[in-house]
Amino acid sequence: MKILMNYRPNFINHIIDKDLKSKKHTNVRTRFPPEPNGYLHIGHAKAICLNFGIAQYYHGQCNLRFDDTNPEKEHKEYVESIKYDIQWLGFMWHGDVHYSSDYIEELYDYAIKLIKKGLAYVDELSIDEIKKYRGTLTRSGKNSPYRSRSIKENLIYFSKMRNGDFLEGKACLRAKINMASPSMVMRDPVLYRIKYTPHHRIGKNWCIYPTYDFSHCISDAIEGITHSLCTLEFQENRILYNWILNNIDINTHPAQYEFSRLNLKYIITSKRKLNILVTKNIVDGWDDPRMPTISGLRRRGYTARSIREFCHRIGISKQESQIELSLLESCIRADLNKHAPRLMAVINPMKIIINNLPVGYEEKIEMPNHPNNSDMGVRHVIFSQEIFIDRFDFCEILNNNECYKLTFGQEIRLRYAYVIKAEGVKKDKNGNIICIYCSYDPFTLHKNPVGGRKITRVIHWVSATRNISAEFRLYDKLFIHPNPAVASNLIANINPNSLIISQGVVEENIIHSYSSGPYQIEREGYFILDHHYSKKSYLVFNRTVTLKESKN
Ligand code: ATP
Ligand code: MG
Repeated sequence: MKILMNYRPNFINHIIDKDLKSKKHTNVRTRFPPEPNGYLHIGHAKAICLNFGIAQYYHGQCNLRFDDTNPEKEHKEYVESIKYDIQWLGFMWHGDVHYSSDYIEELYDYAIKLIKKGLAYVDELSIDEIKKYRGTLTRSGKNSPYRSRSIKENLIYFSKMRNGDFLEGKACLRAKINMASPSMVMRDPVLYRIKYTPHHRIGKNWCIYPTYDFSHCISDAIEGITHSLCTLEFQENRILYNWILNNIDINTHPAQYEFSRLNLKYIITSKRKLNILVTKNIVDGWDDPRMPTISGLRRRGYTARSIREFCHRIGISKQESQIELSLLESCIRADLNKHAPRLMAVINPMKIIINNLPVGYEEKIEMPNHPNNSDMGVRHVIFSQEIFIDRFDFCEILNNNECYKLTFGQEIRLRYAYVIKAEGVKKDKNGNIICIYCSYDPFTLHKNPVGGRKITRVIHWVSATRNISAEFRLYDKLFIHPNPAVASNLIANINPNSLIISQGVVEENIIHSYSSGPYQIEREGYFILDHHYSKKSYLVFNRTVTLKESKN
């Protein structure tokens, strides 16, 4: 496996180092175990970088295992997207893809084993009754009346469950542990439930499915996982993880360790909640560029390298925290600043007519594709008598904080081109400016004007005659609530300005370029061509990120 990760050792490495030193293990095997009930998000990227990163670091293996024992929510589409996203992030799993559903027979046999040991029973309480009987943190639970069934009876009833003799919700298999345990997960947890929804891989062959608690530890053991890494909410389940493995007489015993999940401000990292946004058409699918999914970030212009760098910077610990969105943005900015070729585009076009150039005048101007990397070459951009600038870059009367703008009587430089000066405007009958008349100084191409005139202001531009029309999609946070996961109403917290669409122009060179980007559009930010909506005749750009961190 190629080392891709800029890997920073963490507390889990200390554990593994010890295990290797004591010869508890001679090889390290981790796994990434997504449930195929949605697309991967940025939180999963953290778990992916950790699990695959550890395997790379120790020259071990990382398995990909779909935790697919919940047929109602799982689909093949999600399986395919997850496989794609992992590889796009730069990782490859060891050997074949695994599925918990591959082990369905073995898991069933282990359940039988527990029954035969008197450690599991078929319960016929309803889900609500099970909850009621469970008790609370301060009150111990109550035994189910079905708890005292004989082993023989349990074997019969469990096989009836498997044969489809019970309706959904009418019976389940529970571990027989301790209804008074201080640990709620040990109060006779459910191991199997009935589900008649066909499974995306095994169809209608089975109608009973193991719970996460039962299938996860056994799948880890079957695959010879040495270190099973999961997020902190499973800390409490660790005791059950070990109880099951200790009682099924399996000869490998992986160890579970927990780390804190990624929480990002203004971002949701729950497939279930992201699914609501998709099914209610609040967003344009799982890969909407505002979604924190890997596919959304990719469509937005994020690179795999920048996401890995982000995971590297946040590190791994047991500390719960909420990371600022600006950290993720600074990673993509740093990456694109270095790697993205430059391009000129005007998002809110306003025409400029240069008075002292002949009508139809055109001139090729050379520009670097990257100001600090000459290896990226140069391109030629047409400068013409009529050009577009951004209408917000002009003001008839400047306010104090607008000194970077074009205005009457003051000179300004067109990026990589000439110095111009505004001399007049044409307005429509409502007083709106339709075009600006300027003069240009023909002796200022790539050099300062004579007479010591200092030009500090620079604006971007595009030829008004040689350009391509384009749509620019400017994104902002999808939620206005800094912690949307706790907001009482997810939909009410959607940012109404999360997408602003603007019609503008881009330099003609884009049609000769073979790359969809990302580009740095001078002064406007980093952009990528949207692969869904862009056509040869109609370009749509997604803004990945602004050039600088916004102040709000
Ligand atoms: P979701 O609620 O989004 O479905 P999940 O934890 O149920 O999250 P899984 O598909 O079961 O999703 O997760 C696969 C792996 O990714 C698990 O090991 C899980 O702990 C890890 N993971 C999920 N979300 C995060 C997160 N926000 N930060 C770090 N790891 C995460
Ligand atoms: Mg899950």
